[in-house]
Amino acid sequence: MGKVRDVVITRRTGFCYGVREAIDYAKTAAAEGKKTHTLGQVVHNEGVIEQLEAQGIRTVATLDEVREGAAVVIRAHGVTPEVMDRAKARGLEVIDGTCTWVIQEQRALTQLVADGYTIVLLGTPKHPEVVGLLGFAPNAIVVDEEGDWARIPRTKRMALLSQSTQPPWKFEKLAAFLVSRCHELKIVNTICPVTIRRQQDTMEAAAAVEFMVVVGGRSSANTRELTRLCQIVGTPVLQVESAADLQDPDLFGEAEVVGVTGGTSTPIEDLQVVTRRIYEIAGTPEVRMRAAELAAASLRRVADSTYRTSSVSAGVLAGEA
Ligand code: SF4
Repeated sequence: MGKVRDVVITRRTGFCYGVREAIDYAKTAAAEGKKTHTLGQVVHNEGVIEQLEAQGIRTVATLDEVREGAAVVIRAHGVTPEVMDRAKARGLEVIDGTCTWVIQEQRALTQLVADGYTIVLLGTPKHPEVVGLLGFAPNAIVVDEEGDWARIPRTKRMALLSQSTQPPWKFEKLAAFLVSRCHELKIVNTICPVTIRRQQDTMEAAAAVEFMVVVGGRSSANTRELTRLCQIVGTPVLQVESAADLQDPDLFGEAEVVGVTGGTSTPIEDLQVVTRRIYEIAGTPEVRMRAAELAAASLRRVADSTYRTSSVSAGVLAGEA
């Protein structure tokens, strides 16, 4: 018999503003009748990609797949200047959805290269954002896990930046490590505030509940980090891609209050669906019967103008999970 009586969706969740804006650009272009493409998946979420496809928005891997005159949306991660130039030279309509925060990173790198710094970039080497950033600083040294750090050479003037979604603790640790590797160290904190706030909210929620569910793509680094933080807090946690992954009510053990959070590419609507599923499979008899209504209420608690980071439709707010 299930024990869950309340499921709490964390504050400030859903798409981050960068992802949301790139999606909105693509939808607007398609609605205007343009042949619209996104260069790479605009968000790592199959459900959203399917919705966009249904609106005629195609995801392409390369610019060669886009016909002259058609529109191509650059996703929030940004691209190298070379890709941008090639798109324009091919006569494509470029709709630049690069997140404003990533644009700041690109500008900072350009300046640091001009100033002659040896640049260390904390990030996942093949991540699209990092690939794009390297177009602005081709000689930057990209490091990720601590085992990589020893290969950073000793130098006189060094600058440290980060991929926007790296965990702040790792950035701080790397900064401390670099102090002994150079004479002058310039630190530009390029960790996105959305990432920081989401991690704080998740840790607060994890401390207040008995079980956490983290929703997001398995390959999403920021989602994995949220899972790790719940573990640090000491709260049992399960990471899922969607409600379909929740089959075993025993996972929730004796938990009565469960928290739900999601990565920056997880639509807030998915959190409502997962919340409903938790009520359905692990709720008390009373809440099971009201699962849809209670899940809608959980979403409404966080989908107000203060915490809203996703386009929540009137239907969703009305409880149509
Ligand atoms: S995580 Fe931050 S930097 Fe990255 S796209 Fe979202 S808002 Fe922009």
